[in-house]
Amino acid sequence: MESPLPPQEGSSEDQEQLLTLKTFRSAGKGSWASVPDAEWNDWKWQLKNRVTRIDQLERLLPSMTREERAGVLLAGESKLAMAITPYYFNLLDPSDELCPIRRQVIPRLEETTTAPWERLDPVGEDDHSPVPGLVHRYPDRVLFLVTDRCAAYCRYCTRSRLVSNASGYDFHPEFDRQIAYIAEHTEIRDVLLSGGDPMLLSDEKLEYLLGRLRAIPHVEFLRIGTRIPIFLPQRITPALCTMLRKFHPLFVSIHTNHPGELTTEVREALGRLADAGIPLGNQSVLLRHVNDEPVVMKALVQKLLMCRVRPYYIYQCDLISGSSHLRSTVSRGLEIMDSLRGHTTGYAVPQYVIDAPGGGGKIPVNPGYILRKSATKIILRNFEGKVFEYPEAAETAEATVMAPLCDSSMAYGKD
Ligand SMILES: *Cc1c(COP(=O)(O)O)cnc(C)c1O
Repeated sequence: MESPLPPQEGSSEDQEQLLTLKTFRSAGKGSWASVPDAEWNDWKWQLKNRVTRIDQLERLLPSMTREERAGVLLAGESKLAMAITPYYFNLLDPSDELCPIRRQVIPRLEETTTAPWERLDPVGEDDHSPVPGLVHRYPDRVLFLVTDRCAAYCRYCTRSRLVSNASGYDFHPEFDRQIAYIAEHTEIRDVLLSGGDPMLLSDEKLEYLLGRLRAIPHVEFLRIGTRIPIFLPQRITPALCTMLRKFHPLFVSIHTNHPGELTTEVREALGRLADAGIPLGNQSVLLRHVNDEPVVMKALVQKLLMCRVRPYYIYQCDLISGSSHLRSTVSRGLEIMDSLRGHTTGYAVPQYVIDAPGGGGKIPVNPGYILRKSATKIILRNFEGKVFEYPEAAETAEATVMAPLCDSSMAYGKD
């Protein structure tokens, strides 16, 4: 296997592209110019006016392709409906079929093609579910599926089997069993609320849920996984933030994949959460033609830091049914990680993981920095491809001569 060559730093073309990608813009009102500000900025208006039907798309996206049209028509009948908030819709480029925003939310015909290794439950959540709506995969923490709805639907959704089928509940029908299980299992010190999007609940309902969890003495740490700040930043109201701050330590993991999603509206919403003392992390999914380019990912992670968000994970896309057109290669993921580590702020570098098919959990995957290892020494390469040697501890004690540790004449990439 050929190692990736170290990326070239600072070509002026790359620099220019990076700056363009990192610019904060407002989504604006676009095709909804006549809607009064008070309605546009109201999250309930945004939800009520989501783009969900083909006739709306015909008007709003006249350049819709044959594959998209077929995808939209099939989405209604299939596992995952289409829904896009007007705010988020304004971020997509109607003149570009490969627009990275468009590919995340507009269904395509390819979704109906399922490869033999693709699954409706690709990471085996249902097999690790002790009560409906809870996934207990790791020793000390559980995933709590709060609701079955989202503000908009990602076409690569790993839980499409559970969301958007419009049963329309707020709390899971087995809510009391979910709480009881956590209360009975004293090893659970971390509860991750996800779904469906927990932030679609009213302030009152979310407060009730957080209160029930905080009343369990062994629950130390709460976090919410949400895409609301990206799809519906209007939902992050001052009142919501005032409520959330009562439940610390509470972290929020957002989900953004492309720097174009980080608008001025999103930056303000994230600022309100950060000002409420909520540490923010981001989870991205590596997606073909969305963010599988080093310059795009670098712009995304740097822009996240400007929003006070720490990049947390990059996921290799799960083997969800009908997602092959959106999956990028692991080699590309590793190349992107190589282009980040050392080349930009350490805080901006997330961990790349593969959620193992069938329920093995998240497995970190890293570019190879250890070239060779023996009982006496370890041979490493750095982010520039220079090779270094580190003597193992046992040897160091006896070492009389310090050999030069660095032989920068050896470059990696040719092995
Ligand atoms: C991702 C995940 C968690 C949280 O994992 P962390 O590595 O702690 O972020 C917990 N439970 C399940 C089922 C998960 O998929």
